[in-house]
Amino acid sequence: MTEVLDVTVVARQAFAIGVRPTADAPIQTRLHVPGSVLRGALAAAWINEYGEPDPLRPGRAVIPPGRRAEFEELFERKVRFGPLLAVGSSVVPLSVKRCKYADEGDLDDPCRTALQDEAFGQTGRTCPSCDGPTVHGRGEVEFFDTARAGRAEKTRLALTDGETSADGMLYTRQALRPFDREPGRDGKRTWRSFTGQIVGSNSWLGETRRIHIGGRRSTSGAADYSARPAGNRPAPIEDDRLVLRLTTPAILVDRAGRPVDVPDTTLLSEQLGVKVTVGRRWVRTTTVGGWHAASNLPKPDELAVTAGSVFELLLDDRPDPDAVEGLLRHGLGLRRGEGFGWIQAGPWHRPAAPTPPGDDESAGESDATVLFASGHGKWLMRELGRFLDQCRGEDRPGPYLLGRPILEEALQYSTFRETLHRILTRYTVQQITQVRQELENKVRDNG
Ligand SMILES: [Zn+2]
Repeated sequence: MTEVLDVTVVARQAFAIGVRPTADAPIQTRLHVPGSVLRGALAAAWINEYGEPDPLRPGRAVIPPGRRAEFEELFERKVRFGPLLAVGSSVVPLSVKRCKYADEGDLDDPCRTALQDEAFGQTGRTCPSCDGPTVHGRGEVEFFDTARAGRAEKTRLALTDGETSADGMLYTRQALRPFDREPGRDGKRTWRSFTGQIVGSNSWLGETRRIHIGGRRSTSGAADYSARPAGNRPAPIEDDRLVLRLTTPAILVDRAGRPVDVPDTTLLSEQLGVKVTVGRRWVRTTTVGGWHAASNLPKPDELAVTAGSVFELLLDDRPDPDAVEGLLRHGLGLRRGEGFGWIQAGPWHRPAAPTPPGDDESAGESDATVLFASGHGKWLMRELGRFLDQCRGEDRPGPYLLGRPILEEALQYSTFRETLHRILTRYTVQQITQVRQELENKVRDNG
């Protein structure tokens, strides 16, 4: 079975992820990292490490054919790069109705969580909390629990050389803030994390590395990438239906290749091993462009169904769970290698807000500071990497590092002892990864 990687990208600078510019507005940013942008960032990192795969592009040493084949396999054929969403954000499906007047910034407002999903039989006309009007999800990326996650998602960056606007009036571009929250009086802040998936097995994709989201600029885009094999999260299957939600736009066509707004049921029947018909659907259409890599020309606009579209598939029998997993990995429609057609099954859930700084469970910069101050930063960075490898393998190991002679003197200090103990025994793999990355930054910055 094809491997699935859970990807985490931690922002180290703001992300400016371009939306097609309009003449009279500042350059907008997206609130998530599309799969095509993740793919571009990793491809640039690969080229930086191994060389230029395109023999027609002048100025760089061309790599041997074996390496070029690896590049093609990674970035032009087999691997699917999914969208990365900031922790605390989600695409609200079109079938979900929420209170029109809910205040995401007010944690005491019960209307925030008063949801109804028409795809799951919740068809009330008004908000169950206040009886007021409701609105359908728009299929756009939204941030939740903004009181805890930080109100302002966007910021402004100065344009760099060569980024002049058409009319010469605009001197800034929008960007997504790199922090969940600005530093408080205690100086603590948390870097914004983005999570998503990559489908396809290749050991290079499993390595941790610095990447640049949205191109390499001095003022934006730096981020730390890490990935690990995805855990087993079986899709919820009902006996006679499967609800699919699009988390990205999808380009759907019929047997004759004409654009349509429903998935191909013949193909779905083959994939699921049961007869499939489409029941109710919640769909909006849009057009999508793209960039043709070989000719370096824009692709013509194509009709697509938007992210957040929902299809209720009616089944004549209960499908094999592996077949459902296979469908979710495969996705829907055309140009799936470019980030289109990502789907999830079952009901939508509100995302959890990121853990606020100052909370006992938060990982990151302050822990790394304590570890670095021990004088064993480089050693700890390496050993935490090994510890993480073991966590990802089988059972989580015990806090064996606390018994290493090299740390004997440092462990006499309670702050260091308690910090390392907490990291090794209570932090999640993701939190430890974050501490390790912070530590690596400190080691690098301090020679
Ligand atoms: Zn309400």
